[in-house]
Amino acid sequence: MTTLTIPKWFDAHTHVRQGGLIEPIVKSQIDMGCYAILAMPNTKPPVGKVRDADDGDMWSIEHYRDLIMNAGGDQLSHLVTPLYLTKDTSAKMIVDGAKSGLLTNIKYYPPHGTTNADFGIPMEEFLKSDLPKAMSDNGVILNIHGEEHGLKATSYFDRETNAEEIFYTERMPKLVEAFPDLKIVCEHITTKVATDFVLNTNDNVSATITPQHLLYTVGDLILGLKYHLFCLPVVKFDADRQALRNAVTTPSQTKFFAGTDSAAHTEKCTPCGCAAGCFTGGIAPQLYAQAFEEAGLDLSRVDHELMFKNFLCHNAPDFYGIERSSETFTLSKTPQTISKIPTAEGEITPLPLGMGMDTIPWSIAE
Ligand SMILES: [Zn+2]
Repeated sequence: MTTLTIPKWFDAHTHVRQGGLIEPIVKSQIDMGCYAILAMPNTKPPVGKVRDADDGDMWSIEHYRDLIMNAGGDQLSHLVTPLYLTKDTSAKMIVDGAKSGLLTNIKYYPPHGTTNADFGIPMEEFLKSDLPKAMSDNGVILNIHGEEHGLKATSYFDRETNAEEIFYTERMPKLVEAFPDLKIVCEHITTKVATDFVLNTNDNVSATITPQHLLYTVGDLILGLKYHLFCLPVVKFDADRQALRNAVTTPSQTKFFAGTDSAAHTEKCTPCGCAAGCFTGGIAPQLYAQAFEEAGLDLSRVDHELMFKNFLCHNAPDFYGIERSSETFTLSKTPQTISKIPTAEGEITPLPLGMGMDTIPWSIAE
């Protein structure tokens, strides 16, 4: 039986939600060996200002951090809480926020791009503003949801192109060319186009990759319409998955790291549509290990274990300038049974269960 005792890891992209969901979700992150998390700001209302005392009705970073800390987040060594980039975000906010230490990251959402993303501004507007320079000058990291917005269905997702490919072909090169010193994380990339973009740009550009995009393709989503696999950006084709797998299994790669985009929904499917997001809280390292094996690695080999550790445990803290964890947890190749997670606001269905599987090949040792 293969066991991997590895450093605790930084989930560089997750959603801890709010209300009765925060506590069980934060617990699921800690249970799966996280010593650090980045909690995305698409709450209702969004985390759109830095301090409570600042103008406006949006939540502040200060407030959101308190909520998470009081829900068990105080057990984490690091909590990263980006500001939601809205039309109200100003260069002064960035300069003051960075000085205060509260503002370390800003999240770009395409307008109406995903769950609670109604406040985003178009990338063209961001590029023309004084915001990227203020971020770059003050060491604030930009987290990007890289999908073009406002597209017709045939451009949004079709055989020749899709919203992510358009974004990484038309928007990102301009941003990186204009602001080469800006640190950027391309969140949850799904395509070969985005992967190649990250590979071919400077070392200030990195990317998170989710378990579902390493494990599944759009065929898995469509076969039986497995709506629990519906997330944004949507899972793509086998050649895309292969590009992601190649990227994460390249020895000594430093640009790609784990960010689960785990996103709980108590009501995933409605009569007229489906909420975007896959829940992988509690089981993400297990799913990543499964994906690395499906990509052809033998995790009992020391060199292959190192590739896994680079992706899961090393690259994200290194990019963010957070120290790596000195604590460890242990993954073992022993099947684990999955069940729904009860919360005060209803049950959450973990992704494998939503795919019709109540058992996964890896587990976390007690
Ligand atoms: Zn997300």
